[in-house]
Amino acid sequence: MNPAALPKPAEPLVHRAQPPADLVIRGARVLDPRAGIDGVHDVLIRGGTIAEIGAPAAPEGVESLDGEGKQLFPGFVDPHVHLRVPGQEHKEDLDSGTRAAAAGGFVAVVAMPNTDPVIDDATVLRSLREAARHEARIPVGFLAGVTRDLGGDALTEMAELADAGALGFTDDGRPVHRAAILRKALQYQRLCGGLLALHEEDPSLSGVGVMHEGDVSARLGLAGIPSISESTMIARDAAIAGYEQGRIHIQHLSAHESVEAVADAKARGVRITAEASPHHLTLTHDAIAERLDTRLKMNPPLRDELDRRALVDGLRDGTIDCIATDHAPHAREEKEVPFEEAPMGTTGLETAFAAVHTELVVPGVLPLALVVEKLSAGAALMGLAVPRIAVGEPAALCLVDLDAEWQVGEAGYESRSENCCFAGRTLRGRVLATVAAGSVVYRERAFALTAA
Ligand SMILES: [Zn+2]
Ligand SMILES: [Zn+2]
Repeated sequence: MNPAALPKPAEPLVHRAQPPADLVIRGARVLDPRAGIDGVHDVLIRGGTIAEIGAPAAPEGVESLDGEGKQLFPGFVDPHVHLRVPGQEHKEDLDSGTRAAAAGGFVAVVAMPNTDPVIDDATVLRSLREAARHEARIPVGFLAGVTRDLGGDALTEMAELADAGALGFTDDGRPVHRAAILRKALQYQRLCGGLLALHEEDPSLSGVGVMHEGDVSARLGLAGIPSISESTMIARDAAIAGYEQGRIHIQHLSAHESVEAVADAKARGVRITAEASPHHLTLTHDAIAERLDTRLKMNPPLRDELDRRALVDGLRDGTIDCIATDHAPHAREEKEVPFEEAPMGTTGLETAFAAVHTELVVPGVLPLALVVEKLSAGAALMGLAVPRIAVGEPAALCLVDLDAEWQVGEAGYESRSENCCFAGRTLRGRVLATVAAGSVVYRERAFALTAA
């Protein structure tokens, strides 16, 4: 169990090798809050690296993209996606999931271990990383299980998994319901590092609930999941993390009590971070009242307007550190069942920026720069390099048309699944091109045809 005995893998993220970009993006508004850039510039990428920002005279053989009237952002990083590999490739796979990510402007994603088999053993993790080396279009990292088979009873070999490349640990899909197990995991974290990402839910409170417990669930006669199912577990785990001086990350915050629990823990000096999803930031259970659509069924559930506003406030004041999609693909036949029986989850990679932009930036609720920053802030939590638009940095950026309107699902999806909670909505803001790890990994169809 000596973590120094085994060599660390060379790279935390893996992807398929692609030709490095030689590209100049002309006249886009470059917005990188971390690099302190907000202005119209030409950006020259040579051999996959940002070579010049300003008005470079592009050398011969460099392709030119017209960015006039468009925005160039540091690429987004999602610390919470489900790529369904191994074992559930009918929902998603490494190629389709990372294609969906690239189409959403993401330049790196971190996949959850609730696969079949579960990523709870170094051999499974190694072969998954090897597969990603051939199939993933953008860099992918992996979390491994906290407990064997995500069963909640026995810890995985965390040090071995960390050596095999796990960025951290989670039982996502389920809580670590036994406090003593979480405590032990935090003790091992001291030896092997890595983030402990927690899906917070008390199963005895969630019961057989299928949506938020509130006036809408009462009216529809559906069993509810109370907000305290989440917030009481956050309070418990923050207390344990504080006691062990460990580091925890709270996944997909949904309730106002949860935002308060995270804020309280941060005020006490607990090393705690948190994420919120585009759907929890922009939708409420009222959407389910309008149409009993299984694409709106997820865990944690869409809650009420007070909760949604608390999440937005938490993002603004820094209680919530980053935006994460919890992209959770399910096959059509799995979702085309009565609401009570449908699996929980929505896809989200392709709509993340557009949904938040449309619902929160356009109406003036949140500044664009804050949203751009929160869409990549998850990288730092995972111990990954945060994309920056700066000379000498590997190119990891996305070109976005803020004025483009599109109807979600109208032209299909890059994801293998179509269970998107924003389906049918008209959103503003379209990713035109994505450069990840120095290579062009996505171009919107029309843009690819018209680009000079
Ligand atoms: Zn979860
Ligand atoms: Zn999840």
